[in-house]
Amino acid sequence: MRIGFVPTMGALHEGHLSLVRQARGENDIVVVSIFVNPLQFGRGEDLGSYPRPLRADLGLLEKGSADLVFVPSAGEFYPRDFQSLVSVGRLSRPLCGKRRPTHFAGVCTVVLKLLNLVMPDTLYLGQKDYQQFRVLGQLVKDLDFPVRLRMAPIVREPDGLAMSSRNVFLSAAHRSQAPLIYRALKKVRSMIRSGMRDGRALRRAMRGVLKEAPGARVDYAEIVDAGTLQSVIKLKKGARILAALAVSFEKTRLIDNILIRV
Ligand code: AMP
Repeated sequence: MRIGFVPTMGALHEGHLSLVRQARGENDIVVVSIFVNPLQFGRGEDLGSYPRPLRADLGLLEKGSADLVFVPSAGEFYPRDFQSLVSVGRLSRPLCGKRRPTHFAGVCTVVLKLLNLVMPDTLYLGQKDYQQFRVLGQLVKDLDFPVRLRMAPIVREPDGLAMSSRNVFLSAAHRSQAPLIYRALKKVRSMIRSGMRDGRALRRAMRGVLKEAPGARVDYAEIVDAGTLQSVIKLKKGARILAALAVSFEKTRLIDNILIRV
């Protein structure tokens, strides 16, 4: 009996459902969790306002034919005397880890707890959170947890914006600027394809595209090695590169990335 597991924070969209479909195709039992994990939100982040349309989510999962949906409450998941944290070192520190220093320890702790409860054969994660995928891969490897990780491609709106539960918070003006995030990533890809090897020039190019979005504040525009997540200055032939962006429109922080083989 093969068990596939898709952890989510709910407010489900086609990105989540693509993971459920992939799990459905490869397993006998598909388990989905919906849990807005307080441990992975920093102070001043959007834990309180994070959308929680549980009824609609359950309807989508019924149609998407999940077998079991696990919806713990924060109180039962983290009782008053809860005091453990699991964290991964180097991979948690760059990119999102810079501005969100406690985020990945929160993610690792909740996912390890969920893995211990669900005991799946395969864990389904989206490329949208590529750093999370790498960090969790390291976690299960380091701690010998017997689970396979699968990464699914990023599902996008027709205009290129990566689907996210947070997109609903964008004003109409910001929503119309947000597709520039993907456009900046595609620009980097085409520059690399036409021979550009200078990491700094590629970072500048991403920021240049985002200047066309007056509402955007760039948190990071990075070119990193897809394995180590460390910044790359000079791109080498054959290297796997991640171009990654985190951009805030007022309080809404969006991330996106693209994997490129040089
Ligand atoms: P979240 O509910 O945001 O914690 O996401 C749950 C899972 O869905 C994570 O593995 C995400 O990487 C994945 N995911 C979120 N958005 C997308 C997307 N647009 N395309 C593919 N996977 C996604």
